[in-house]
Amino acid sequence: MPTKTETPEQVKEWLQTALRKIWPLAEGSLSLRKGSCIRKNCKACESGIGHPSYALYGRHAGKRFSIYVPGELAPEVAKALENGRRLQELMNEAGIRYLHALKRRATVKSRV
Ligand SMILES: [Zn+2]
Repeated sequence: MPTKTETPEQVKEWLQTALRKIWPLAEGSLSLRKGSCIRKNCKACESGIGHPSYALYGRHAGKRFSIYVPGELAPEVAKALENGRRLQELMNEAGIRYLHALKRRATVKSRV
């Protein structure tokens, strides 16, 4: 990464370009939960296997949530979560590059 020469404006351009490619996006965790049904004498429930289904777990406005995820949508949700982690990495990198660029600008100005 060109951290030696870039300006705060260039960091902004780089980040906005990178952000445009990040979709779908989600934060939280995708887990398989073991559900039970209300049927009597259900073999799946009696055997302990139950009726597994995916759920997205996370926090919103300070509260935990879990949302049912149909099995066929699980790969897309997993992709969104992966992108969420990528977004976190991008923000970390952006902070570092932005600060370097700010310091460089301050140094250049003080020389003038
Ligand atoms: Zn059952």
